[in-house]
Amino acid sequence: MNETNTELREGLAAAAVLLGKARHVVVFTGAGISAESGIPTFRDPLTGLWARYDPETLETPRAFREDAALVWGWYLWRRMKVAQALPNAAHKTIATLGTTQREVTVITQNIDDLHERAGSSDVIHLHGSLDIPKCFACHRIPTDESWNTDIAAEGVRVEPPRCERCKGKLRPGIVWFGEDLPSRAWKRALATAKSCDLLLSIGTSGLVYPAAEIPREALRNGASVIHINPAPVTQLGVNEYAIAGTAGQCMPLLASLAGV
Ligand code: NAD
Ligand code: ZN
Repeated sequence: MNETNTELREGLAAAAVLLGKARHVVVFTGAGISAESGIPTFRDPLTGLWARYDPETLETPRAFREDAALVWGWYLWRRMKVAQALPNAAHKTIATLGTTQREVTVITQNIDDLHERAGSSDVIHLHGSLDIPKCFACHRIPTDESWNTDIAAEGVRVEPPRCERCKGKLRPGIVWFGEDLPSRAWKRALATAKSCDLLLSIGTSGLVYPAAEIPREALRNGASVIHINPAPVTQLGVNEYAIAGTAGQCMPLLASLAGV
């Protein structure tokens, strides 16, 4: 066994002890948990026609005002990618964890529905969802599914459908850069992070605020935090641990070591 494997096993074994004891677990996830389902993270280079665009410039109200058809086409493409994807071993293990004696709350930054499709029942979406668009002008959520069209090809511009009430353009119901988080979801996430005894932070760069406050809130209130990420996590504090591996690889191992 090489050094990396030994380190990984030791990390998993220590984490399994914490998971075995934990009564209230928060699973905090980012784009990395869906990477093994084939949904690219923002730090992965985009392929194909979308490689010309930077997600951070498409995900703003300003981009929508300037070229709504470009932004709507981008979301239809992302929805299509999510619809084609399946939950992976990490999503499934988290759902199984939720069926055990522990209280398990998933707080996700993701706009996909892979936690729900894996079977998790308590999922807080901090950044909204690809499934619920709203009017850019009056914020009304459409009452029918006529907005839900297939896209002809990747990288195409598509005129957004219009709001039934004010004829404004429909926009995706997700949180764009510079926008506030949905306040109910945010308050519940903070309260849950405060009351948990273990937080698993999986596949998140920790660069997107205020979401990145969630693991800190758990730490401040005495919980342990375990990061699962193939990229190194630096500057670990007391009660903070890092497992250097992918979500799909580590989560089933962690659960089986903890006897879940
Ligand atoms: P990020 O793109 O900033 O970072 C992804 C992290 O995942 C990185 O730290 C990377 O090292 C790690 N990672 C990559 N592959 C992994 C794997 N197989 N297992 C575990 N970790 C892996 O993502 P973020 O921190 O979530 O922030 C970016 C924002 O973009 C968020 O709001 C996020 O919701 C959104 N986003 C969502 C999706 C989605 O819904 N699936 C996809 C892309 C971006
Ligand atoms: Zn409207």
